[in-house]
Amino acid sequence: MTHKIAVLPGDGIGPEITEQALRVLTALGLDIETETQPVGGAAYAAHGHPLPPATLELAKNSSAILFGAVGDWKYDSLARELRPEQAILGLRKALGLFANLRPAILYPQLANASSLKPEVVAGLDILIVRELTGDIYFGQPRGVRTVEEGPFKGERQGFDTMHYAESEVRRIAHIAFQAAQKRSRKLCSVDKANVLETSQFWRDTVIDVAKEYSDVQLTHMYIDNAAMQLVRAPKEFDVVVTGNLFGDILSDEAAMLTGSIGMLPSASLNASNQGLYEPSHGSAPDIAGQNIANPLATILSAAMLLRYSLGATAEAKKIESAVEAVLEQGLRTADIYEPGTTRVSTSEMGDAVLKALK
Ligand code: NAD
Repeated sequence: MTHKIAVLPGDGIGPEITEQALRVLTALGLDIETETQPVGGAAYAAHGHPLPPATLELAKNSSAILFGAVGDWKYDSLARELRPEQAILGLRKALGLFANLRPAILYPQLANASSLKPEVVAGLDILIVRELTGDIYFGQPRGVRTVEEGPFKGERQGFDTMHYAESEVRRIAHIAFQAAQKRSRKLCSVDKANVLETSQFWRDTVIDVAKEYSDVQLTHMYIDNAAMQLVRAPKEFDVVVTGNLFGDILSDEAAMLTGSIGMLPSASLNASNQGLYEPSHGSAPDIAGQNIANPLATILSAAMLLRYSLGATAEAKKIESAVEAVLEQGLRTADIYEPGTTRVSTSEMGDAVLKALK
């Protein structure tokens, strides 16, 4: 069966890094058909909207989306609904992408890039699974109101609503348990069940889903403790599952343990394993068009695409091994360069990964 991949390069360094990932993705001999459409600022410039109908249709009709990055300062004065970032929100909504998978891997060759001591982080390999479409970020009602009773009576008050429906917790828990099965079978669910009703409900529901995964060891941790443990002993974690709010913070904290934003891939999945794969960094307009950006986060996103949307685990591992091989050869783009290594351009890094694949 031919797999259709939508390629949405976007803005800034998006086209340069996506080009390298595409070269790698199509070099593996898989039955893949790709089609490219503009997204973000590039789509606004060409069609007056960051997510034009043709781009959205392509995304909907594809097994997976390889996404570069969107955003540029020159679009900052546009109305909110026309800003490049709206394209990502639109795609998440249209495709129901509720599960965000963010691995934080610190390759031994880059151990010095972390702000933590090498012995604490070297060899780090964790996966944060964040619920992406619910929680206090989307809960209704929300807004500003006048308090009607109590000590703040008559004052204006800002408020949001935190809630999770059972099906929302169950589906993200299933994704996390299945991801844990593909790794070392350890899952830590992070919540604030000592204070929040929503969290207690989350915890009870995850425990119930766990009955279907007796091969995975489930633990629970409060968010405040998790934030501490992540910097104290990050290698204690394998897969972490959490809600939208806590996941937003923990995934950035975990990413920074690695110290190198140009290395971090991500995936956003729906219930049928259709997914959007993108580097965790932005469009880096400050270095766009110079052929110096690090394409490895996007190349590793292509590996995630193979693993999670196409089920091509062996090919995904091939890409990941090739990336490790080029690091071992001492090749570095400017962002991860250190004395004693060899500085290469975006396209040279792509060449090296392609060579290491063979
Ligand atoms: P950024 O991630 O684009 O850049 C932060 C810094 O990291 C910059 O100095 C940049 O040069 C560097 N950098 C990022 N990726 C790199 C790479 N692959 N190789 C080498 N260096 C890299 O964040 P920002 O500067 O805050 O945002 C720039 C634009 O990107 C904004 O318009 C923002 O809205 C957008 N953005 C988009 C996404 C996305 O598409 N998912 C995510 C974050 C930010």
